[in-house]
Amino acid sequence: MAKHNHIENYLPQDIKYKTIFKKLKKYALDHLFIETKVGEKYQDVSDIEFNIIRLKKRDDEEKMLFYFLHELGHVRVCLRRDYETKFNNMICALDTRRYNTNAYRIGRLQEEILAWDEAFELAKELRLKIDYERMECEKNK
Ligand SMILES: [Zn+2]
Repeated sequence: MAKHNHIENYLPQDIKYKTIFKKLKKYALDHLFIETKVGEKYQDVSDIEFNIIRLKKRDDEEKMLFYFLHELGHVRVCLRRDYETKFNNMICALDTRRYNTNAYRIGRLQEEILAWDEAFELAKELRLKIDYERMECEKNK
């Protein structure tokens, strides 16, 4: 991949975030077999069926890291052994009428919370030097 920006033009925090980004990308590939793609038109999404995470490109690179961690959190939640029993309302193949049930909505909410929990967990595992308080704020948005 060609880089048009020269590294010496980056601010120290940019280099820091790029390093962390690379670390997460490597973690995704090596541990979860997930490829990561970034695009301006993407929504943040993890697609476990196709082993891919798509991230919306943001100017705020630290914020991107929070959402990268969150999507990785989703993947880790999905890979848990109890996922199917706990979130049996979430399985894609189910009747779409389920989407209107409270069970589905609650399940989604629980999964969101768990994905953030995993995100924090992973950030700590990897000893990432990010602003955890800011990530907490982002989680609560
Ligand atoms: Zn989410």
